[in-house]
Amino acid sequence: MNLYDNHNHSQFSFDGKRTSVEKSAIAAREHGLAGLCFTDHCDFFVPPMKAAYEHLMKEEFDVASQQAEIDAVSARVEGIRIFKGVEIGMYCKCHEVIRRLLSTWHFDQVIASVHYIDDTDPFYGGYYEDKDWKQAYGHYLETIYREMTWMGDFDVLGHYDYVARYAPYPQASILYRDFSGIIDSILQYLAHEGKALEINTKTYQPYKGRTPVLDRNILLRFRELGGEFISLGSDSHDPERTGENFPYYAEFVRSLGFRYLTHFESRRPVPLPL
Ligand SMILES: [Zn+2]
Repeated sequence: MNLYDNHNHSQFSFDGKRTSVEKSAIAAREHGLAGLCFTDHCDFFVPPMKAAYEHLMKEEFDVASQQAEIDAVSARVEGIRIFKGVEIGMYCKCHEVIRRLLSTWHFDQVIASVHYIDDTDPFYGGYYEDKDWKQAYGHYLETIYREMTWMGDFDVLGHYDYVARYAPYPQASILYRDFSGIIDSILQYLAHEGKALEINTKTYQPYKGRTPVLDRNILLRFRELGGEFISLGSDSHDPERTGENFPYYAEFVRSLGFRYLTHFESRRPVPLPL
């Protein structure tokens, strides 16, 4: 089966020093993938707590250097297709600079994600302190919906359940039944606009004794609403994780009635039959 890993970080991401375009491309080939896309981080706002810890105010990358490196590695490494992408961290204070970036560069694929919310970083804490699980997950989903409908210019919604990854609650997963209204709004928009829903396999790893699961009902509802495009992403920051658990999730998606998985080339969806 032709599987593509559509969400990978390289040395051009602030947190990508454990890998490189070349190392991840070779690992992806060894893992039997047909291709991979480098979607380095672009967050133009970093919450104060994290900025102090990491000594950075923005998480930008040098797009020209990343794209030149992808061209160079593509010419050297055979047997794997490599695509140029970006993962935009949507944030209400950064609309103008996001628009500018997207009008300046050509990408194969743009992932739209929410990493930071209300000046907090769920990974570093703060966000969950004054909320129960329902408020924390619900507010994150509402924020995704508000930001992605503003942004419009993207191909894939990244890790819609990112907020569950680092949450402290026994309720480890975002389930359709608990948030059906806002999840419907998100899925309806993606389906109507021909955008892809990402299955981000990093979210379903164990973390501090909790393991979020992917709710099949969310995928079923997406299909019911006319959604066609599902994108697989490992969110790898090191070469070993490229394509992690993809055969399992490809079969999962197929079993729910989807006929193909999708990656993007020059911002156009390319469906590959399952
Ligand atoms: Zn992300």
